[in-house]
Amino acid sequence: MKKIRCPKCDEFVLFEESRIEYGHSLIFHCENCGKNFSVRFKSKEEKQEIDYTYGHIIVVENVFCEKQTIPLKLGSNMFGRRSLGTEIDCPIQTGDMSMDRKHCIIHVELNKQGEIIHKVEDYDSLVGTFVMNEILQKKEKRIIEDGEIITLGATTLILKKGKPE
Ligand SMILES: [Zn+2]
Repeated sequence: MKKIRCPKCDEFVLFEESRIEYGHSLIFHCENCGKNFSVRFKSKEEKQEIDYTYGHIIVVENVFCEKQTIPLKLGSNMFGRRSLGTEIDCPIQTGDMSMDRKHCIIHVELNKQGEIIHKVEDYDSLVGTFVMNEILQKKEKRIIEDGEIITLGATTLILKKGKPE
């Protein structure tokens, strides 16, 4: 059995993996809230279309969450704990309550040479945002390089330029 989260009430719905047809939608019924919802499963080809031009963030597995790979886009990317009712670009699926729902912003910019640069800024979070174990000051935008570590609460993020290996 596989599980999928109901977008209406946030509870898990269990289903047989054999029902999945990649590239097609499936209708699910949530026993918890009684509503139906549909989910489209991406085919392998579609999954490969994720754009990693502007790099990605690896969320390191810990007691609160599984490993996650989150692509970045040009402009600002808001990171925080995934929570029903809070829409952000880069939600992290975690039980880490020390991570705010809106915790930090990763800015992807192009410099005058057209090179991609990454900066991280705390979003007035409760416990702060750390880069290589140093806390960011209010309004500070710290340049981060490939492989550098950002800490949000008990969770570790790693910036990677380009595609996942
Ligand atoms: Zn539901």
